[in-house]
Amino acid sequence: MKQFVLIRSFRPFTLFCAVTVAVCAVTAAVCVHRAEATAAVKSGLPLKGKIIAVDPGHGGPDPGAIGVTGTAEKEVNLVLAKKLKRLLEEKGAVVVMTRDSDKAFSDVKKEDLDHRAAIVKKSGAELFLSLQCNAVPNSALRGGQTFYFPGSDKGKRLAEAIQRRFVTKLKNTDREALTLSSAYIMSALDIPAVMVEVGFLSNPEEEALLKDDGYREKIVAAIYGGIRDYYREEKDAPSWLPFGAGRDKTP
Ligand SMILES: [Zn+2]
Repeated sequence: MKQFVLIRSFRPFTLFCAVTVAVCAVTAAVCVHRAEATAAVKSGLPLKGKIIAVDPGHGGPDPGAIGVTGTAEKEVNLVLAKKLKRLLEEKGAVVVMTRDSDKAFSDVKKEDLDHRAAIVKKSGAELFLSLQCNAVPNSALRGGQTFYFPGSDKGKRLAEAIQRRFVTKLKNTDREALTLSSAYIMSALDIPAVMVEVGFLSNPEEEALLKDDGYREKIVAAIYGGIRDYYREEKDAPSWLPFGAGRDKTP
């Protein structure tokens, strides 16, 4: 009888303890995130509270473009993405990477890109940047080139802001941002999205630069500068402007 009483009283107590531990764990996790967000907001950092997705293009069995001396695009993209992540985090942003190692989520390109898009959507990111390297038969071509999805007003402004930094700071091009409708991952996202082609691996000089750590730092600084310019312009855009002229509903 005594044993029965003990067992009966033990079960609710065990349940109570389990529930208490679970509630404490969830509360602790929420508190940690809130504390991080609060710290970021209080910090006064330029990208405080921003969630930004960075996608190192290609990976795993898909090397992307191959440079004149054999440099694989996927490796350049990953190194640059990691550097960009560090810099954006220093400036207060939360950064979500679609991959942080040499891998693809599927041998089928569309499945790989769908998986990356799902990571971005789940993260709650408000901007998407895919880092890429160019390669063309004409080995004389060089310099950075940004692309945005047609019809995306904010994507256009982000691409233009980064492109301006390439022109004025990196000084490796005089091109303008262009539309690109064939980039599947941009069409799969409903946030401002930009493909950043940092340079041409098919140009021997630029391939050497893209392997240089100092030049990589400059590329990343230029991309960060463009992101910061974009947010400044968004903040300054009058809210009364009609669609297409300033703030609007398009990503
Ligand atoms: Zn690529």
